Amino acid sequence: MIDGAPGDAEFGFELVTCRWAERAWPPDRDTATVPVVARQLGTRNRRWDTVVVEADPEGLAARAAFGEGALDSDLLHVVRNAPTDWAWYRDALPDPDYPWRYVRAAVHRADARGIVDTKRDGNRIRIRQVEPYPDWVCRLVAVENKPDLSASAARALVDQLDHDVSAALADEVWVATASTGETVEPALFEGLPVEAGVLALSLDGEGVDSRVVWHPATLDPAAEASSPPADRESKRLELAERAYGSGWRSYVETMRPDCRWFRLRESADAFVPWCAEKECHQTAAECAGDCPGFEPEPPAWRTHGWPIEGGPGKGIQRLLARRRRRQRRPDGE
Ligand code: SF4
Repeated sequence: MIDGAPGDAEFGFELVTCRWAERAWPPDRDTATVPVVARQLGTRNRRWDTVVVEADPEGLAARAAFGEGALDSDLLHVVRNAPTDWAWYRDALPDPDYPWRYVRAAVHRADARGIVDTKRDGNRIRIRQVEPYPDWVCRLVAVENKPDLSASAARALVDQLDHDVSAALADEVWVATASTGETVEPALFEGLPVEAGVLALSLDGEGVDSRVVWHPATLDPAAEASSPPADRESKRLELAERAYGSGWRSYVETMRPDCRWFRLRESADAFVPWCAEKECHQTAAECAGDCPGFEPEPPAWRTHGWPIEGGPGKGIQRLLARRRRRQRRPDGE
């Protein structure tokens, strides 16, 4: 287990689950897809701890032509519909259900990011695709992390999971919990929706062992979903894009790796933040600008091999950024 107070343990468990998913997803079947893993993503109504996009390897490789950042819904509207030959953007793109001026702004943004070609023809802006936007998302999976799935924690999850099942935005929902070592995991008795899978993870210093305690059902949007299929597909693609853009290591962007006490500790093959001042795995909320223990890295640290690009804190950010980029590659290398 990850040591620390319950909140800390949950954050650490979430990071370890993400790292495990990156290497081992899916736990219950063979697939040629590649997992793209993100954390704390969702919609206005629901945020998931871990999101796994099962990506088509060729599609994922082709997605790289559109840059490392996520494409929002306006940019997706442009790149998915941009024609192969020059055309006025209003002729080329489907009627939006919002004013054209926003489309025009999105065309300019897409041009600035190099993901669509544009040229002026008098007052008109003509567009042309750089590459066809690939069909890279095969399945979307939501995982709720509850290392200590006590009866009360399970009860608190039921409403959330019921919502996930009824919205059917994901193809599968899972609860990941720390293995108790018992033959039948207690989570099974806690009234979780039968459609949700239950996964028991055993953590040790070297890695993670997974065991499927309960297989999930594939959620059927036709039977469950309240939104029209086109809306559902758009929302899924936007979520997948956000997962692609942020990955799961972006936690470092909201923490303080520039604090002299910030460390990364390897736990079950994942780097998990550690606060040397508090001697615990700090949460992202704790490790913020208003933390009373914050102390900037001493300037002298920056003279040991990091004279221009910053100190160890910058080194941590670069390390995690490198790993994020690697995750977007189909071979993960
Ligand atoms: S002292 Fe505060 S800001 Fe510094 S690493 Fe610890 S939690 Fe983060």
